[in-house]
Amino acid sequence: MTEPKPKSVKLAGLQPASKPRMSKATAKPRKPKSAYSTEEVEEIFRRFSVQRPEPKGELNYVNPFTLVVAVALSAQATDVGVNKATKALFAVADTPEKMLALGEDAVREHIRTIGLYRNKAKNVIALSRMLVEDFGGEVPRDRDELVKLPGVGRKTANVVLSMAFGQATIAVDTHIFRIANRIGLAPGKTPDQVEDHLVRVIPNHYLYHAHHWLILHGRYTCKARRPECEHCIIADLCKAAEKTNTIPAPLVALPPQVF
Ligand code: SF4
Repeated sequence: MTEPKPKSVKLAGLQPASKPRMSKATAKPRKPKSAYSTEEVEEIFRRFSVQRPEPKGELNYVNPFTLVVAVALSAQATDVGVNKATKALFAVADTPEKMLALGEDAVREHIRTIGLYRNKAKNVIALSRMLVEDFGGEVPRDRDELVKLPGVGRKTANVVLSMAFGQATIAVDTHIFRIANRIGLAPGKTPDQVEDHLVRVIPNHYLYHAHHWLILHGRYTCKARRPECEHCIIADLCKAAEKTNTIPAPLVALPPQVF
């Protein structure tokens, strides 16, 4: 006797449930992806590391405190302009205590060639006071503490953590924000999104210098109005819609003064 073939039985309510679909209103926005593979990102940063083995920021400072002040002053101003103004300022006030003693009027006079100088002078005095009263005159090494200082946002805090204390952070400025989105390395709608994305895609061993490499690449090659793709060392790898060249420029180490 042949066994009867089992009939498929459909039981109401026991069918495999299809995944509930989220409505558009409740669906979480997908995180934007990098346009590059891990190997491509590694190669991009390897080339940056050969081109600029020891990148340095352009702002002049003599200690963590003067760095905080210089970075806070650099918002909507050029580093060259800030350096001109801070040369005389830091000669007389390179600690929070000396800055307080100098007073807001004198600080304002020193920095009057810099945009938004009135407000910035107020902040320099206020942050100096907070450093003296709440932090024993020392610049804190912690981002949450740094952003409590008047005039210090996340970007300034990241620059200070990186340059003064050697922590691997990415302070997303206008150049980094543009490059990350333009070439699809770490797309994001806000600087914080780009920062989170960059920290995830950049290999750890390049993270410390990545901030300067990207700024310098943006300032001198991948410029805002017209990227100079003909001088670009990653032209063959780049996936920007604006790219005008596919042959990479020769990979040579630039002398520090070119920065
Ligand atoms: S190829 Fe052009 S668009 Fe791409 S990174 Fe280089 S300069 Fe920027």
